[in-house]
Amino acid sequence: MNKIPAVFAIFFILAISCSPKPYATTNKVYRKQAKKFGKLLMHYPLNDSVGNEPYFVGTTNFTMRRPNFVVIHHTAQNSCEQTLKTFTTAGGTQVSAHYVICKDGTVFHMLNDLLRAHQAGVSRWGNNYDLNSSSIGIEIDNNGFEPFTDAQITSLLALLGRLKRAYNIPATNFMGHADVAPGRKVDPSRYFPWHKLAENGFGLWYDTIGVQPPADFNPMLALRIIGYDIKNPDAAIQSFKIHFVHEDSTKKINDDEKKILYDLMKKYQ
Ligand SMILES: [Zn+2]
Repeated sequence: MNKIPAVFAIFFILAISCSPKPYATTNKVYRKQAKKFGKLLMHYPLNDSVGNEPYFVGTTNFTMRRPNFVVIHHTAQNSCEQTLKTFTTAGGTQVSAHYVICKDGTVFHMLNDLLRAHQAGVSRWGNNYDLNSSSIGIEIDNNGFEPFTDAQITSLLALLGRLKRAYNIPATNFMGHADVAPGRKVDPSRYFPWHKLAENGFGLWYDTIGVQPPADFNPMLALRIIGYDIKNPDAAIQSFKIHFVHEDSTKKINDDEKKILYDLMKKYQ
């Protein structure tokens, strides 16, 4: 046996042993659906584009569109197994994510990064709507009332680093589901270590030492500049606090929080 087939044989054995058996059938469904999209892209004349023009000259210079945001979630379920099952059930909730991180740090890749998962739903960040079309969704196995495990955060940081490098995603574009869907979503919970993520280049953090907002400082405008949808002011404040002020669950913004917002506004704008 020469070297190349041996490498493939090892890879194949690893791939088989890493794929949980109950998912052999749904993996087949994945392949079938991906094949359908592949065929659609190759179809000529184009039948998947809005332009209804009579003339077509295919350009020779193109690549796939890339994700430019990352949206982080907690699953609000009781086990990774339960989540994998939910995301492989056709019909029903129709929800999915690109990655799922289990309590022991195991990461399941569920969808090609270049395809659209059903994770963010109705969403807005800055003037970006439909985050599903432009983001990678990462679900962390957590019921919403417990701390995240060290193994999960270690795996998450490694994954985020690879995504950031591969797709050139700016630090400002790593958000939580609650950030992009205020009032509708509250994940990941206040246990989530956003400060640690920011220290590693995923999201930004504040430093209020010596910060003094001007007398006419408008906290709601600051929230809007950072990226929050402020249509419902209470909901926007709640999402901001879930992310940046874990210990305060009121819907009011005090003087310390004004300093935080003023500093973040300058960093995010
Ligand atoms: Zn979510």
